[in-house]
Amino acid sequence: MSLLNLPPLENNNLLKKPSREISPAEILSKEFQQLIADMTETMRYWRGVGLAAVQIEKPVRLIIVFNNEGDVYPLFNPQISHLSKTKDKLIEGCLSLPGVEVKIERPVGITVEYLNETGENKTKKVAGLEARIIQHEVDHTNGIIITDHGPSLAQKDKHHKM
Ligand SMILES: [Zn+2]
Repeated sequence: MSLLNLPPLENNNLLKKPSREISPAEILSKEFQQLIADMTETMRYWRGVGLAAVQIEKPVRLIIVFNNEGDVYPLFNPQISHLSKTKDKLIEGCLSLPGVEVKIERPVGITVEYLNETGENKTKKVAGLEARIIQHEVDHTNGIIITDHGPSLAQKDKHHKM
C-alpha cells in the first residue's frame, strides 16, 4: 500500500468540480482495488473518518467511509435516495481544508444507493455519524465543500475530519 498525496484546496482545483461515474468493469480492475487500499491507508494516516477520491486528485465517484461499527468500506457512484426530515447541526472538518471548521445542518438519516467493491448494487439505510460522513463525501463527488454550506468558525472545537 502507499500513502497518497492529499493536497489542500488551494493546490487541488478538482475539488470544485463534479467527479465522473465509474463502470462496474473499472471497479474490478487492479487499479481501483489498489485505490481503495491506498485511500484507506491515507485516510487512517490523517485520522479522517471518510475520504473522497477527488481529495487525492482522482476525480471519480468513489468514497470510503467509517461505518457505525468502526469498519471502513468503499461506495462507488453513491447516490442519496432519501433524507430524513429530522436534522441536526454538527461541526465538520475536511482533510482538504486544514484548520477550517463549519457548523452544518444535515438530515440525521439517509438511504444511499451505490456499487460495492465487487460491483454489486447496494441500498443502505444509515443514521448518525455514518450518515453525516456519507453526505459530506457525496458532496465532494458533486464538487461541493464545507465552506459552500457556511462560514468557517472562529472558535476551534473538537470535530471529525472527512
Ligand atoms: Zn472533506
